[in-house]
Amino acid sequence: MKATEVPKSLYDLLPTEMDALIAELGLPAYRANQLLQALYREFPAGFDDLRQLPVGLRMRIAERYALSPADEVRRVVSADGNTTKLLLRMSDGTLIETVLMQYPEPGERHPRSTVCVSTQAGCAMGCVFCATGQMGFERNLSAAEIVTQVLHVAKFLRARGQHVTNVVFMGMGEPLANYGETVRAVRLLTDPRAFGLGQRHITISTVGVIRGIDRLAEEDLQIGLAISLHSPDEALRQRLVPTAGPSSVQDIFSAARRYFQKTGRRVTFEYALIAGQNDSAETARQLVRLIRGTPTHVNLIPVNPTAGGYGKPARHAVMEFERILLEAGITCTVRVEKGSEISAACGQLRTDEANSFISMEELSQSPVAPMRGHRQASPFPVPSQIQ
Ligand code: SAH
Ligand code: SF4
Repeated sequence: MKATEVPKSLYDLLPTEMDALIAELGLPAYRANQLLQALYREFPAGFDDLRQLPVGLRMRIAERYALSPADEVRRVVSADGNTTKLLLRMSDGTLIETVLMQYPEPGERHPRSTVCVSTQAGCAMGCVFCATGQMGFERNLSAAEIVTQVLHVAKFLRARGQHVTNVVFMGMGEPLANYGETVRAVRLLTDPRAFGLGQRHITISTVGVIRGIDRLAEEDLQIGLAISLHSPDEALRQRLVPTAGPSSVQDIFSAARRYFQKTGRRVTFEYALIAGQNDSAETARQLVRLIRGTPTHVNLIPVNPTAGGYGKPARHAVMEFERILLEAGITCTVRVEKGSEISAACGQLRTDEANSFISMEELSQSPVAPMRGHRQASPFPVPSQIQ
């Protein structure tokens, strides 16, 4: 099923579009704010929960729009309680993953609570080390489906007296290959009349869709941009990201510079370190030659082994790679592993389910399942290093 066939949700509407809907229905303008308040502060499970609105109005809206909150199929929590991975079912049965990462903030009553959202079911980019890439592409998610991932987490955090502080577009899929819905979701998450998160608390990660990066620079948004570089060498990058063009490294660099010039925000380069592929000292020096002089930040991610047989480098190789970058004056961090026992790299929970326990068909029919054992270690984005 394509995104366009999913019934349009009220969560697809920007506040100005909500105003237009209310005007079209011949209702007083304040009803739009009432509706937005209910949608983004009370997280209704259905139209019956919109009690502030008269029943007649609820029914008229329900004739045209769905609410379709995400249906939680599984929830897996790491041993330290800081990482929660969710398998969510969309209204057409599509399964996607969403992750909540929490970091205690010194001196703060509430932890930093970052939601990692998916923008597509599967991904067409085919990165050889990525579980989502190996699934292939299923479909784009709508803006509402992206936003409801955040709202689903916000709802259970509220029950604990906590709230969502950051959102990273680093789950399943390539956000800039689903450009329109991704940017609409960013606007819904940041509009003060909708979810109201600060723009600086949002980061989009892309494999390097150049046209998308250039369009994003023109959007007048103060969001962070991370680009998954993985190699300073064209041929090697093409092996790791088979859909990357023949001059992807150079193209990415030019696009990152344009993004910086336009927005004043330096780009983060993500670099999945893979044993024997892109982790040598020589490759680190090649990366230095490429990056030096560009205001940027490098985030090294020791790869999380997936079915593709690509493994994590030894600890000393990671440290040596980092040392070479730091000595050359390049700001650089190694992504800390969190939630290692819960298949936390996006795409892995769904893959684990499919491979080890029950078929995807059964899964899409199954009710919430209890936590079961998992086998893979996982990397985690550390948003403080990304933003
Ligand atoms: N498609 C986008 C965003 C989703 S992937 C992108 O590629 O940037 C988010 C990040 O997770 C990317 O940097 C990606 O390279 C990384 N990633 C994917 N699989 C991984 C794995 N097995 N181990 C470590 N990082 C992985
Ligand atoms: Fe897609 Fe990103 Fe995975 Fe590559 S790393 S296959 S772009 S989700």
